[in-house]
Amino acid sequence: MATTTWTRHHVLSLADFTPIEYDTVLQTAASFREVLSRRTKKVPTLQGQVVANLFFESSTRTRSSFELAAKRLSADTLNFAAATSSLTKGETILDTAKTYLAMGADMMVVRHREAGVPQAIAAEMDRLGSRVGVLNAGDGQHEHPSQALLDLFTICTLLDPDHPRLELLKDKKIAIVGDILHSRVARSNIWSLTATGAEVHLAGPPTLLPQLFAAYGTQEGNQGAKEPLPITHDQSPITNRKLFLHWDVEPALQDADFVMTLRLQKERMTQHLLPSLREYHQRYGITRDRLKLCKPDVKVLHPGPVNRGVEISSDLMDDPQFSLISQQVTSGVAVRMALLYLMGGGKI
Ligand code: ASP
Repeated sequence: MATTTWTRHHVLSLADFTPIEYDTVLQTAASFREVLSRRTKKVPTLQGQVVANLFFESSTRTRSSFELAAKRLSADTLNFAAATSSLTKGETILDTAKTYLAMGADMMVVRHREAGVPQAIAAEMDRLGSRVGVLNAGDGQHEHPSQALLDLFTICTLLDPDHPRLELLKDKKIAIVGDILHSRVARSNIWSLTATGAEVHLAGPPTLLPQLFAAYGTQEGNQGAKEPLPITHDQSPITNRKLFLHWDVEPALQDADFVMTLRLQKERMTQHLLPSLREYHQRYGITRDRLKLCKPDVKVLHPGPVNRGVEISSDLMDDPQFSLISQQVTSGVAVRMALLYLMGGGKI
């Protein structure tokens, strides 16, 4: 595997990721996907290093795939579960992180239901002069970078299995449908997918779209507008991002190449934002019928876990002709190996 010029020490957000960084992750993940297809699926890259998985919020896919990724790279792993930890005795999150630092953790994978916790731990590690790299595995409604990178990898490898790269998505149309307001997956995917040159169309009920976009909303969204929503980040070199907003799902699906449907995050809803799940499914649920609006070879993604029959019909979720959901889970291991490898110095 080629050594790279990767310099990012923490992976906390995709807002300021550069095209070169995206392509480096995609190409590195492609190499690890090849490793994972071998009989011996392990490389000694991170031998002697310790990866601590600090999950302060529940997870199935993300936690297991980070653990497997670390093990496939021969790292030692420490798994923390909030419910059985000293947090229940009043220990602070930063003290928990410092405990893992004292045990020799080289990298920390952090998930928390509050936005900003991985950033706070990273800042503390830097303040202490440690070399620990922190990876955001999902913070509140903010971001979930590794999920968006595995989504990107899944789509790009479908288009070119050997050379996944950003430019493959140039001029594609991607719809992201559902509970955008509560979704850190959507926020990270907005950064990564608009970095490719694709048109990204968000669709959901106005109550589940971020207030930030309210100024652009009309009953039709900005679907009639020629100008995309202005989104940018001070530190991002990518300026011509193409993001559109719709309150109805149909214009977002029209001629779409990919549809990403999101889980209704019931645990994050503090007000009654929807009349009923049935009505939601009727208006925004992804079904075979609705997919007829899309390109004939459209593919559907979902980050999981899925509310079957709510954001996507149960039969569609299991249909390999359309669904990329299990490929997303498989991609997760290779992409997380790539991130740990790059953060760990990118050498073998
Ligand atoms: N698993 C993803 C996350 O942790 C998506 C979801 O929970 O809906 O954000």
